[in-house]
Amino acid sequence: MPSIDAIPVTSTHLAFDDTDSPDGMCTTYLAALVIDALRGWDLIGLPRLVRLNPNVPWKTRGNAAVSLSVGVGSGPRRLCGEVDGCAIEAYERGAPAEPREVLDVAARVLEANAEFSCENTNPGIVCCNRRPPQRLYWSAVRDVVALSDVEGILEKNDAVWKKYKNGRGVIGASAAMSWRPRDRTWEVISYRDAGRIGTQRDIDSASVLRMDKETLHTFNNYDYETRHVAIAPASPCPVLFGIRGDSADELVRARDMIRGEEPASWILFMTNQGTDDHIVHRRVGDLRANLSAKMAVEVVGEPRTIEGGHVVVRVSDGREIDAMFYEPSGSLTRAARALVPRDRIVVFGSYRETPRAVNVEKMRVVGMQRVIGKSRNPVCPDCGKSMGSLGCGQGYRCKRCGRRASEAEAETSEVPRAIRGGWHEPPVASRRHLYKPVRRMPNGNINKLLIRN
Ligand code: ATP
Repeated sequence: MPSIDAIPVTSTHLAFDDTDSPDGMCTTYLAALVIDALRGWDLIGLPRLVRLNPNVPWKTRGNAAVSLSVGVGSGPRRLCGEVDGCAIEAYERGAPAEPREVLDVAARVLEANAEFSCENTNPGIVCCNRRPPQRLYWSAVRDVVALSDVEGILEKNDAVWKKYKNGRGVIGASAAMSWRPRDRTWEVISYRDAGRIGTQRDIDSASVLRMDKETLHTFNNYDYETRHVAIAPASPCPVLFGIRGDSADELVRARDMIRGEEPASWILFMTNQGTDDHIVHRRVGDLRANLSAKMAVEVVGEPRTIEGGHVVVRVSDGREIDAMFYEPSGSLTRAARALVPRDRIVVFGSYRETPRAVNVEKMRVVGMQRVIGKSRNPVCPDCGKSMGSLGCGQGYRCKRCGRRASEAEAETSEVPRAIRGGWHEPPVASRRHLYKPVRRMPNGNINKLLIRN
């Protein structure tokens, strides 16, 4: 069995992006069609599904691009998909092909299938025997990159590429090709029969729940908070379902456990999903547009619930900013409502310029302020009876003898907090593709038997 982690070096790398629209297609489905068309060469390593900066203004959905490697395969191989009833196998190693020939075959498939009529669809396809430097990936997953800079890199790497319309897809394609994983997960995606695309998906939710319970390394399968099957997209795209996880072998088994509509094809991808690669450590004063950051801050204002059930919390690390918790973030937003000034938290989220705020994706409570509250009105030293309140901040008076007491004379005790320390995350349905589930965090709880999702 070849190493599932192998990132082929000596082979021909092909990548494409920006082929879909909100009304159809999916860049990963194009990968299945391209792999099928490239059967004259061998697939080297797994196809790779790479998510890029979730804050780029022109993405239509999840900012995904696909990269794969082909050539003359050698070494062990493994099953990684099925298209049109034919198995797809990936070799561990390979010798390169001629990039221009590979590009021409793949570009024809793209041209026949991309959603050119959508104004926002600007495909790009790149082929090369040398991966672009990995700094391109890190810029594209965290920042905004200019097409001219990318084309400069491609020229230096002797790449060949084709761009359509404004050609922006070349950015995502090149960035996907330049990805060398520090962390990675896998996703097995099943695709629908062409005749069914656009109709309602038939997925047996009980089988999804069973798969979730019987697999140890899959995640984001089912939203227990909203009782929602999370493996199927809502858009009219060719994807039937996608299962994500930390074990490629388990994913292939998990795919077989889903009941309902018969998939027409499937592909196993290596991905950067669930890795938090988009997150950089920043101070509040260093935030800027399109960035996603992790910041250690202190709560400096009482949480405010605004219209729509969203919660705004003023936080500071010396410079202040609003932390926004949106209503669909469910339990995360409810936790934010229970914060108090001087609590110390680490927030992960994306920066928004107007109005200036951080949209919080997840939070870790690292220090909780003790809250002292009144437990009992003062007792009259003459009558031994509990005194009555004169109103907020007005002190107390004994109903029997009229003796007065100040606010400070009331009995106090520590009030139990309505929030626990540690991680707080949104329900599965509100998470971004790059969002790293707490169970994958080094200090999260990896044991799926204890923490779901
Ligand atoms: P998908 O539906 O496949 O999940 P999407 O439709 O949301 O993805 P794309 O169709 O891939 O997104 O469109 C995003 C566009 O933004 C692409 O043209 C891509 O090349 C470009 N892009 C991606 N990341 C960056 C970046 N960091 N800087 C500049 N452009 C980017």
